[in-house]
Amino acid sequence: MPELPEVETTKRAIEPVLLGNTFHTVEVLRPNMTLFNKQFASSLAGKTVRTVERKGKYLLLHLTDSLTLILHLKMSGRLGLRHIDDAALTYERIRFHLHDNQVLIFNDPRTLGRATLLPTDAVMSYAALGSMGPDALTVTGQEFSDRLKKRRGILKSVLLNQSFVAGIGNIYADESCFVAGINPNRRTETLTDVERSVLHKAVIETLEKGIRNMGTSFSDFSDLFGKPGQNQKTLFVYGRNGKPCLACGTVLSRSVVGQRGTVWCGECQI
Ligand SMILES: [Zn+2]
Repeated sequence: MPELPEVETTKRAIEPVLLGNTFHTVEVLRPNMTLFNKQFASSLAGKTVRTVERKGKYLLLHLTDSLTLILHLKMSGRLGLRHIDDAALTYERIRFHLHDNQVLIFNDPRTLGRATLLPTDAVMSYAALGSMGPDALTVTGQEFSDRLKKRRGILKSVLLNQSFVAGIGNIYADESCFVAGINPNRRTETLTDVERSVLHKAVIETLEKGIRNMGTSFSDFSDLFGKPGQNQKTLFVYGRNGKPCLACGTVLSRSVVGQRGTVWCGECQI
């Protein structure tokens, strides 16, 4: 599932292509992904992209005429940039025709992704955007600690809660806890001031590494041109249950927190 680093990687790739570009026509091949908005395609036609923004795991394309296109990749969505004459991808769901015969493609095997067109001033009332916490990549240490202090629960669950901070999913939650040396099964009220601060630095470091590596690709994520990210080669714990810890050699443990598999080292993480 694309998390903050994968969505940021996508944002940085589409930004130079989309800024100032105009949607000529839009083909919706899966109407459920546009929430069956019958005017989706016709409303987008002729609109020009003014700015591209990422909020947590959402991409926001701010358009002319005070409209914003919200793209949420969900479990398996990704964006691709193709030429109009290129062979169709297997799971093309929405085709946005741009200038110079370029086509931005919303590809999604599971069709859980969403493309929503709203007046820009209504964006914050959309789904989770209104209740979303500060971005996990830019939240300050003070704000992160203050917010964490107010939360009660299992650390892993809190990290995944987008109203705490936005953008962290299963991969980067487990990786951040390992880097911080903190067990993700701990209750948040047991964390010390020092641990909260260490965790904040670990989150930033882990997300920045993910972005430098152009995202984590297991099966579905790839960049705009179909090239996979490289971060999966550098993961410490995620997906490594039963394997030796890269730091101390102890066999990594796994638990389930809020229905999400969680992997950690019983020696390195207290
Ligand atoms: Zn270890």
